[in-house]
Amino acid sequence: MKEIKCRECSTWTNADLENCTNCGVSLKIEEIEREEKRFQLFEDEKPSKFELWLERLKESQNPFKLMLYSILKTFYVVYMAIIGFVVWSTLWFSG
Ligand SMILES: [Zn+2]
Repeated sequence: MKEIKCRECSTWTNADLENCTNCGVSLKIEEIEREEKRFQLFEDEKPSKFELWLERLKESQNPFKLMLYSILKTFYVVYMAIIGFVVWSTLWFSG
């Protein structure tokens, strides 16, 4: 029998039940919250610090910073394209 721990009273309850046998709190809500937390963790992984820094640069009113942004953005796109090409060619030659 699968058991889950109640988030309110920490009593182990049959996971097939909808409510805790000890305090009556809904056990299904705990499952939904866990799913949301997992989703939030996934969201935190992106974007990267460099991309965030670039976004901040873009919002700047300084024309020099805006110029720096367009240059860096171009380099970043080219860099990603090169990485993509290297990965692709490595796969091509090894396979
Ligand atoms: Zn409980």
